[in-house]
Amino acid sequence: MNFTVAIVGRPNVGKSTLFNRIVGKRISIVDDKPGVTRDRIYALVEWKGKKFTIVDTGGIEPGGTDLMTTQVRRQVEFAIESANLIIFLMDSRDGLLPADEEVANILRKSRKPIIAVVNKVDDYSMKTGLYEFYRLGLGEPVFISALHGSNVGDLLDRIVEFIGESEEPEYDESVIKVAVIGRPNVGKSSLVNALLGEERVIVSDVPGTTRDAIDTPFEYEGQQMVLIDTAGLRRKSRIKEDIEFYSHLRALQAVERADIALVVLDATEEITEQDKKIAGIAHESGRGIIIVVNKWDLVEKDDKTIYRYTENIRDELAFIQYAPVIFVSAKTKKRVNKILELIRFVMDQYTFRIDKAALNELLEDATALVAPPTIKGRKLKIYSLEQTGIKPPTFVLTVNDTELLHFSYVRYIENKLRERFGLEGTPVVLKGRNRK
Ligand code: GDP
Ligand code: GDP
Repeated sequence: MNFTVAIVGRPNVGKSTLFNRIVGKRISIVDDKPGVTRDRIYALVEWKGKKFTIVDTGGIEPGGTDLMTTQVRRQVEFAIESANLIIFLMDSRDGLLPADEEVANILRKSRKPIIAVVNKVDDYSMKTGLYEFYRLGLGEPVFISALHGSNVGDLLDRIVEFIGESEEPEYDESVIKVAVIGRPNVGKSSLVNALLGEERVIVSDVPGTTRDAIDTPFEYEGQQMVLIDTAGLRRKSRIKEDIEFYSHLRALQAVERADIALVVLDATEEITEQDKKIAGIAHESGRGIIIVVNKWDLVEKDDKTIYRYTENIRDELAFIQYAPVIFVSAKTKKRVNKILELIRFVMDQYTFRIDKAALNELLEDATALVAPPTIKGRKLKIYSLEQTGIKPPTFVLTVNDTELLHFSYVRYIENKLRERFGLEGTPVVLKGRNRK
């Protein structure tokens, strides 16, 4: 599991300001749709080559009506359960309040690593008079201004000191890493069990397995695979927002370590916003995707049912047209083996390399069929199409001016690539570059 850092503290001490300051533009989750705008509360961050997930616990309960103290307590509970490191944020202007001391007591008992941070120190001369914060017994506090960014770099240095060199198990390149994601109750655990089955060899003792990762390596017809899971986030909660929050965070962290994401849907229910968000997480992270419609045994079928379901999925999850859809039952195990075959197939696509000559030919044909556009009297010229990477397949179009490389033409080339080479189940990255 990804190293998780949670920011806790009373309302208004500056948690979201600090979160935004740290995250900057390096956010890696999908945009919320307008209308249901909810602040982003977790994001992946990289600092000095180390990665971690940061969580603003203040966002766990948007617009909650609970008493303040209850809110803070829940955030702290969450942090203790799920985070590897806790940033305890206080406000220099308020000084050390009894409420802070209360939180500090709970945190200290948890034995989790904690960094005490005093915010709103906009002017360093104000630092005198802040000695009371040392009294907390949480070590030397870091004094920052989240608003102006001062000392936030130092704080990040302190954070990454806690991150070990390798928090995650390492697998050989040849091992296919698979994340099973989806909202609660769609049947993820049942599916994992069905996938593993009795006949599958479960390879144990993965070197480097950490307490947080409960990965299950296994072999399918000679192919090593591993099911990626994230422990520590299995907390049961009755509160809807919490459940959603946990399942998103789990999806984000599992997908981050995987090659392929199985996006599991429940055939007996409509596709929800939450399904879309979770599928969006897989898409944004650039992983291979297979849409698994589970509980197919419960659906009354005629000869058009599969067609109707597929249409609906293509409408609702329009941004992952490239993902194959498979209808299964974890309960009866129907077609569960097909998933494993599909994983192999999608992995081939995800790591597909297309040779130079074939790309040149494709570019020639594509530009002959639909000429590159002319914008404001200037014509787009494409000099070459080259593949620069895999996982997912990544291509570069070298052009006279990337300003002229309109989104729709990029999409057109992408479609041509898919038409000719398949690339089913994998995102394709296509970038423009100016010729030097
Ligand atoms: P949260 O409720 O803990 O998430 O707090 P917010 O991030 O919403 O911040 C509360 C208020 O404090 C906002 O008006 C921020 O602009 C302000 N604030 C946050 N950090 C600083 C800081 O470093 N200096 C100053 N002067 N104000 C800050
Ligand atoms: P998770 O929360 O996504 O891990 O879902 P679970 O695996 O715990 O399954 C939720 C519920 O759905 C359980 O009661 C399962 O027995 C049931 N379930 C899961 N897969 C199937 C299926 O393929 N068919 C039927 N009929 N029930 C299923």
